[in-house]
Amino acid sequence: MRLLSISFIGFILLFSSCFGDEKQEEKIESSLDNKLWIPHPLVQAYPNYIDSISNNILYWKDGNQSIYDDQIEKNFEEKIANPDIEDMLFFPYPSSFSNPEINEDPGRIRNEDFFKKMYGETKTQVAQNLDTVYWLPSSVNQLLLVSSINQVDQHLQQISNTLDTLPHLHKFLQNPGGTFNWRKIAGTDRLSMHSFGITIDINIQYANYWQWVYKEGEAFPNYKNQIPLEIVRIFEKHHFIWGGKWYHFDTMHFEYRPELFLPYTLE
Ligand SMILES: [Zn+2]
Repeated sequence: MRLLSISFIGFILLFSSCFGDEKQEEKIESSLDNKLWIPHPLVQAYPNYIDSISNNILYWKDGNQSIYDDQIEKNFEEKIANPDIEDMLFFPYPSSFSNPEINEDPGRIRNEDFFKKMYGETKTQVAQNLDTVYWLPSSVNQLLLVSSINQVDQHLQQISNTLDTLPHLHKFLQNPGGTFNWRKIAGTDRLSMHSFGITIDINIQYANYWQWVYKEGEAFPNYKNQIPLEIVRIFEKHHFIWGGKWYHFDTMHFEYRPELFLPYTLE
């Protein structure tokens, strides 16, 4: 279909160039491009912040620009440690669950500057945009602070309201491990996503986290999970990814990442 479209554009361009009318040629090209053009997943996911992505530049709505693809070949560890914006979409986020393949960590590759641009460059800036979520008001009844940027607070409140009506799930949701916490990921120089107020760790008592069981030089720990997929599906409906879909599993961790739930993916 795409090939057909491209050859069709080629035919039109060739046809129009016979008449030597360059302006007309440009007009046809841009009108055909418009018909084929689908906004980039990041533009669809963050329409209030991102204007467009073209010629390898991400154009922010405030006039700033970021390099989209640094054109550096990276292995998995390098993608995690030093990703460009493009690398963040390397692993598609699966809609169903199966045990993750080796190093399959959809959403765990994150460009820190990208999130700083939207949610705040410093602890103080992020804190200025935090708002309250009433976590399971009729049962757990706890106040949590998350970012109001991109309506993360409203999304989490809706998740909370749904979970509140499902008592068989409440033991997994009591004593949540935390939301906003400006800190580095243990043993790294990278900021945890908890720094941006877009995540929640649910009850640590039922959590499995690879860092708790992995020992340097030993085999990578086997995947383990105790969190019901019923909870995961409720979070995913509101575009929070789950750390239980990662090879480097972190099953208490949910994170607002709408770009990973869109129907359009890059070729
Ligand atoms: Zn977490």
